[in-house]
Amino acid sequence: TQVYNFSSGPAMLPVDVLKLAQEELCDWQGLGTSVMEISHRSKEFIGVAEQSEKDLRDLLQIPDNYRVLFCHGGGRGQFSALPLNLLGDKTTADYVDGGYWAASAVKEAKKYLTPNVIDAKITVDGKRALKPMREWQPTPGAAWLHYCPNETIDGIAIDETPDFGDDVVVAADFSSTILSRAIDVSRFGLIYAGAQKNIGPAGLTLVIVREDLLGKASKACPSILDYTVLNENGSMFNTPPTFAWYLAGLVFKWLKGKGGVPAMEAINQQKAALLYGTIDRSDFYRNDVADANRSRMNVPFQLADSKLDALFLEESFAAGLHALKGHRVVGGMRASIYNAMPLEGVKALTDFMVDFERRHG
Ligand code: PLP
Repeated sequence: TQVYNFSSGPAMLPVDVLKLAQEELCDWQGLGTSVMEISHRSKEFIGVAEQSEKDLRDLLQIPDNYRVLFCHGGGRGQFSALPLNLLGDKTTADYVDGGYWAASAVKEAKKYLTPNVIDAKITVDGKRALKPMREWQPTPGAAWLHYCPNETIDGIAIDETPDFGDDVVVAADFSSTILSRAIDVSRFGLIYAGAQKNIGPAGLTLVIVREDLLGKASKACPSILDYTVLNENGSMFNTPPTFAWYLAGLVFKWLKGKGGVPAMEAINQQKAALLYGTIDRSDFYRNDVADANRSRMNVPFQLADSKLDALFLEESFAAGLHALKGHRVVGGMRASIYNAMPLEGVKALTDFMVDFERRHG
């Protein structure tokens, strides 16, 4: 059976990338060793580092006044790194709460400052939704405004482009949406993302930070989280997660080969339309997020009769459709359909859903 993996992260990687990594595993660049066995300071690995940054800059059209850092520590590491690097002599920052991960960032931020929480969660026609950006109202003097454009667990997204003027530093957690759609990097002060969803293996975290925000880290900031130290050392102050970095580089190349971010965005749109369409056409399945805020990456859905959940999971797994169980705090099902998930995978899922309903509805 062809397997499609709908895991929310660590998530599916492009099969072509995995095959190439397998081919190169024991003899990379003719060195007779694997890329994960060589020094991060070797000219061969420096080549990987430079090329991957260049490709990422091309893919996201990152302006020259932004630095790209390849870090450790995951998304949660950045919940701390952000205040440790950017607070300076300020005492507050705005945190837009749209779901589980935005709220987790608030919890961590409280160790360093008094966050001003903007609750964006609303209901529109009985569906979960988020307040549009024009209603957010940043606090004057706040050090930044943080939000999470795609809530991986809640399946809720904010696709608007921030436009709060030059005085507001926008910081955003792109862990589960980076590279899935075109964004205007220049509207952000800081973008970060754990790699394990749309970029590559867990262990690597991407940071894109505007140059003028460097040099403000607090004295207590661990050097390995300090953007300025990382930048000055080419993300090699300590040993970077070299294998994850190499693999991310392969994913960037793969993306370019597919036509880059706009081409991915078009496919992602198609995938999401197919899945939400299948859910909406039946009373057997339900998604309770308002259209404007539906995530294209993480699609939670419920069965009208939750007594069928276990059977749905058992049968879908047997059909090669893996990891559809919803997050423990939400229940039901969730299909994560990141860049690496082909349209055929979503087609296989929707065919299964229609058939399951026919047999059990
Ligand atoms: N932010 C978002 C949006 C996430 O989806 C996740 C993980 O699933 C995290 C942060 C936490 O990432 P990590 O486990 O890499 O710390």
